[in-house]
Amino acid sequence: MGKVSPFHSTHPSASVYHDNSSCTEGNNIEAKYKKSGTDGRPKCDHCKRL
Ligand SMILES: [Zn+2]
Repeated sequence: MGKVSPFHSTHPSASVYHDNSSCTEGNNIEAKYKKSGTDGRPKCDHCKRL
C-alpha cells in the first residue's frame, strides 16, 4: 500500500487524479475507465491526506 504512479478515471464525472493504492475512490475506478497519468488534473483530496 502507498504511493503509486498517477492514474485517473476517464469517466465524465471524474475530475481528479489519484496516486495512492489506499484511496477508496481510486480503487473504485472501473478497469474500462482507468488510465495512467495525471491528465493535467488536480490531485484527489483523499490521496492528498494518505
Ligand atoms: Zn484518490
